[in-house]
Amino acid sequence: MERRNEMYPIKRSVVGVILIAILIGGAGAYEQLRSKDRTDAVIRMVASSTCDYESEKRILIRQKNGYTAEWTLDDDVALRKPFNTADSAYRALVDWIHRHTNLSSLDLLRRNLVNWSRFRDSMYPKDPGRIDAQRSIDRLRMIVAGKVGVIRPIRCLEGIPYREFLRVNDLRRFPQEFGAYYFKKNGRLKIVGDFYHLGGIGNEPTGTDESKTASLRRVELVKQGWQLSAHLHNHTFVFGNSTPDIGGNLIPSGPDLELYDDTRVPKALISNGLETIELLEVEIELLKNSDRFAAERSTGAE
Ligand SMILES: [Zn+2]
Repeated sequence: MERRNEMYPIKRSVVGVILIAILIGGAGAYEQLRSKDRTDAVIRMVASSTCDYESEKRILIRQKNGYTAEWTLDDDVALRKPFNTADSAYRALVDWIHRHTNLSSLDLLRRNLVNWSRFRDSMYPKDPGRIDAQRSIDRLRMIVAGKVGVIRPIRCLEGIPYREFLRVNDLRRFPQEFGAYYFKKNGRLKIVGDFYHLGGIGNEPTGTDESKTASLRRVELVKQGWQLSAHLHNHTFVFGNSTPDIGGNLIPSGPDLELYDDTRVPKALISNGLETIELLEVEIELLKNSDRFAAERSTGAE
């Protein structure tokens, strides 16, 4: 995989040279690019360097508070590059997060682990809430210790649906979630995402709740030989809470784990807009298994 990455700077320099040739050489240089294939290749390479895949998007259904969209892309190494976009809504979101916190996602989890442990210890031994607290502590410990999951900067692959959601919903004002599924087939990749703004309605899909359109499309694609490869959703930051938790936690919730169980998704992605956690199926299984022991440990000595 890493060897393939080495190709990328070469591609970029090729794009640069061709663009400069077009700009400086004018019509003469452009003549050399008459081949439609070469021109298309240049357009694709320029687009991939900024993670712009707007022309590959189609809307499956449009509703009054959002839409379900699908992208069909070449499964190119550029999709695994860090998310690079000049999109103003995304830049504004990043600025907003940085104005409130400079903690890394891992430091946020460490801080929450301390907070959850204090919270559990403040409860009476028979308090049923201790079990939930212990579940959270166990999952946090596994991720903080690096036993499950990989946390890394958000990539173009997740940035495509993330940026799309910002067109529907301002996460600085409405801490909502979107969901997207990824599929692979013969070197091609599809993303099917739900982008809905609740707007106080409360009856439309959000987060891990899949829309009917996306659900039908998922079944249809699998029938057509597309392999389900991953699920992505966001955990957004929430500043100004009375609790020390500012959101953006890269850890699956109970309902997230249930969804992964139902869909048998091979890889789970959760992003807070800056970083993403990747969880493989076997790691999801480990997180779920930790629940079995939470009840015993919540009341016993550790
Ligand atoms: Zn979640």
